[in-house]
Amino acid sequence: MTGCPWCVRDEDHCHGTLVVVTAVEVECSDPDCTDLDVSRHELVTWIDDAG
Ligand SMILES: [Zn+2]
Ligand SMILES: [Zn+2]
Repeated sequence: MTGCPWCVRDEDHCHGTLVVVTAVEVECSDPDCTDLDVSRHELVTWIDDAG
């Protein structure tokens, strides 16, 4: 039993937590992360600082 569909399909992805600060400012908790794309991250935190 694995909860990660990307591991099952052996696809490129990241297990770090992606932090979306703004549309152009994105960070990942994994220092080895090479692609800050939301679609390849299982954990994504959206920081809505518009208020
Ligand atoms: Zn995985
Ligand atoms: Zn990442």
